[in-house]
Amino acid sequence: MNKHQNRFKSSENFMLSEHQCQGERYGTCKCGGAVKMDERLATIEQKIRDRVGKPLTKTSGYRCWEHNASIKGASPISQHVAGTASDISVEGTGLTVDQLAEIAKECGAVRIGKYPNNGFVHTSCEEQIKVNGDVAADTWTIL
Ligand SMILES: [Zn+2]
Ligand SMILES: [Zn+2]
Repeated sequence: MNKHQNRFKSSENFMLSEHQCQGERYGTCKCGGAVKMDERLATIEQKIRDRVGKPLTKTSGYRCWEHNASIKGASPISQHVAGTASDISVEGTGLTVDQLAEIAKECGAVRIGKYPNNGFVHTSCEEQIKVNGDVAADTWTIL
């Protein structure tokens, strides 16, 4: 990937590159940092950032299907594959997972997963992915 790719803001405090697939780092895919991000998610993330008032770390944004498949327990139709979810770490925020989840809810996230053991909150702008042939195939396209 060239050095200019994805190196721009998806919102005030986030770079699009923070959302790209991290599979290459773990040797689980060769997508080259593909990224897909829902505009509504970018808006929600920024609202959360404004409320927290501190830098936030995304532990997972977009995942290509290959990287997603390597993650134990991840759904094959994960919202991460659809570009509609971010996992946001509580690290450095001084918040608990419950508190960050509450903020995410107030900021418009409609599907929220709490992972207290791993210290992050799954935040999504979409309630669920529609599962029918076409939509699922589209979701799994590697860009
Ligand atoms: Zn990938
Ligand atoms: Zn997640």
